Amino acid sequence: MKTTDHNSWDAMLAVVQAFHDKHDFRNTGGEELGYRVALMAEELGEISSCVTKGKSTTALAEEVADLLILLMGTGIAANFDLKQAFWEKMDRLMQRESRMINGRIRVSEFRDME
Ligand SMILES: [Mg+2]
Repeated sequence: MKTTDHNSWDAMLAVVQAFHDKHDFRNTGGEELGYRVALMAEELGEISSCVTKGKSTTALAEEVADLLILLMGTGIAANFDLKQAFWEKMDRLMQRESRMINGRIRVSEFRDME
């Protein structure tokens, strides 16, 4: 029996790839970046709705998962390695300073703030 390692990024990416293949997204417009941006905005709106309407954490988690699946699929659609991009960006983010701005923390390079 084939088992899936639910802790593995590669397994997650493989099932997103299988989802794309199942519906032939590459040849049916499902991997067009403009369309994907619209879908990601739609899911972000659903996440926002969960927060502003006080929906359950379960509902919020489902919408965040929808967005993650779209993000991973966008890496497939645009032919980049999202895991590599994540680690490269995270390494840079971990070097950045934070400031309190209007009562909330912000981590940024603050290049245009002076
Ligand atoms: Mg959704």
